Amino acid sequence: MIQRLTDRIWLIEGGKGGRYPYAHSLYLRDGGGVLIDCGSDLQDIIRLKKEEGLKVIVMTHYHEDHFYFLSSFPDVEVWATDADAPALESFEVLLDRYGITGSEWDPFFRKLLSEKFSYRPRRIARRIVDRERIRFGRVEATAVIAPGHTPGHLCLHFPSEGILFLADYDLSDFGPWYGDKPGSIEAFRRSAKLLAGIDAPVNVVSHDAPVHRGDIRPKVSAYLSRIDRREEDLRNFLRQPRTRLEIIRRRIVYGEGHPGPWFDYGEWAILSKHLDGMVARGEAVHVGDRYAARA
Ligand SMILES: [Zn+2]
Repeated sequence: MIQRLTDRIWLIEGGKGGRYPYAHSLYLRDGGGVLIDCGSDLQDIIRLKKEEGLKVIVMTHYHEDHFYFLSSFPDVEVWATDADAPALESFEVLLDRYGITGSEWDPFFRKLLSEKFSYRPRRIARRIVDRERIRFGRVEATAVIAPGHTPGHLCLHFPSEGILFLADYDLSDFGPWYGDKPGSIEAFRRSAKLLAGIDAPVNVVSHDAPVHRGDIRPKVSAYLSRIDRREEDLRNFLRQPRTRLEIIRRRIVYGEGHPGPWFDYGEWAILSKHLDGMVARGEAVHVGDRYAARA
């Protein structure tokens, strides 16, 4: 479904209300037609390409729910940030960014990303850097690189249209994702606060409710508080020493009833960041094969 945010900026709502494996896209009706992310709705994108044109696809970052339909458009130029481009250009770099290479989840994700999500390496024609001004016909955007989710996660600010696209700083009930190998809790917090401080009249995100109007600072605070909740739950669980497998099976991040390797990976990706921080701050210890909170 397409929603016209302004005359020149349209929103393509992702399947399943923009829940994984889909993500909302923006479409700029200028500069020959520009799509921001490619995991929303294949039929809508094909129709827009035919009726309005599609010259460039800008990727906010390299995650699979954002590149889902990218392989259907091999003739369209792809732009990405300097820091995230290598993962769109090489499958091995992508797997390494996820922290999957050589893990027990390696075969599962290799198959998932290459088959279901049709990952194909793409040459990145333009590499975007922080604060770069990008012109799409008459529309100008400022690139705001927001590390923490991925190292080069791109947000686009369109001052003349009053729109900020925050992509995966998505204000969802699930909370923040910082589980990639280069992901960082502290960088995520800093980026989310910086984005809220831009104070755009219309804030658009990649998942769930796409449009948030007005001051988003209270929503960002609630969103970031999920991080503290996860750490508190983990701290409580570590009152007794626990192995990695026990921590994964506890489903602190996703909750009970989410079996399988996809969730196993997600639990460890997120919780290992908390464990690293807790151990570094002396709040937990890692002895033998067990982690424990310090009293
Ligand atoms: Zn993402």
